[in-house]
Amino acid sequence: MGMQREPDRYGLMGHPVGHSWSPFIHGLFAKQTGQSLTYKLFDVPPARFRAAALEFFAAGGRGLNITVPHKQAAADLVNRLTARADVAGAVNTIMMDGKNELLGDNTDGAGLLRDLQLNIGCKLQGARILVLGAGGATRGVLAPLLETRPVSLTIANRTPERATELADEFALQGPVVGCGFADLPHEPFDVIVNATSAGLHGESLPLSPGHLAPETVCYDMSYGKGDTSFTRWARDNGSTRAYKGFGMLVEQAAESFSLWRGVRPQTRPVLEALLAV
Ligand code: NDP
Repeated sequence: MGMQREPDRYGLMGHPVGHSWSPFIHGLFAKQTGQSLTYKLFDVPPARFRAAALEFFAAGGRGLNITVPHKQAAADLVNRLTARADVAGAVNTIMMDGKNELLGDNTDGAGLLRDLQLNIGCKLQGARILVLGAGGATRGVLAPLLETRPVSLTIANRTPERATELADEFALQGPVVGCGFADLPHEPFDVIVNATSAGLHGESLPLSPGHLAPETVCYDMSYGKGDTSFTRWARDNGSTRAYKGFGMLVEQAAESFSLWRGVRPQTRPVLEALLAV
């Protein structure tokens, strides 16, 4: 009789994590690819993050996803960073590698790009892109967005200095500028990505309908039942292409799963299952 191997252990660390869809998504990926693993939620406050993550791996855990507010602390914790995590200065995926070292990756940018380009069919090359917000999520997607060669990438933020600082930091990678909402030019963008957490607090953004044309792709990284305040604003002002962040969520998860397991799951059936819940 052979020894029954325990399933490999994965999970998500954040604060809070209670609302997370990640166990559902990784559960479906595992089933689809025939991988034996578990995926659990760990609600860990900032003061305990480092110890909790190290304990997880010391006890044999194989990989973690990291979410708000630990992505930057995770970049400091790991032994090595992938190039894209290094550029982002933030880690959303940790893996124990073959040499017993922790590797930190950031799959958020790739996840957003895959959803925009492959699932939605949005052209980024030559586009005028507006990104709302200058927090961790924006930091993670700037370099991948600039690599697609937009004509311009504007970052607008409630605190304008954070937007200009971020733009300065990424200036060598492409045509990026930062400003406050009030300083935005009154002309339509081709793509608007909402990377603020305003919607989480039920707050709306000081946007003008002039930023929007009917064909503008309006992408909210936030997600939930029904419209978000940003997708509602987009639709109310004539956008026919407003999307929530479920696709990015599933695509960044698929990137993490591929890194951990060496097999790429199909995202479409999982996205469909998520949208049907
Ligand atoms: P951060 O806390 O790092 O940044 C929050 C940003 O939102 C800041 O720019 C902040 O502006 C802005 N903001 C907050 N409240 C308001 C408001 N009332 N009005 C205007 N601006 C506001 O968060 P993250 O960058 O990590 O995450 C942002 C969002 O993206 C979250 O909702 C998160 O869930 C989502 N996300 C989704 C992913 C997905 O896979 N779909 C992946 C990653 C993130 P200021 O600088 O002025 O404080």
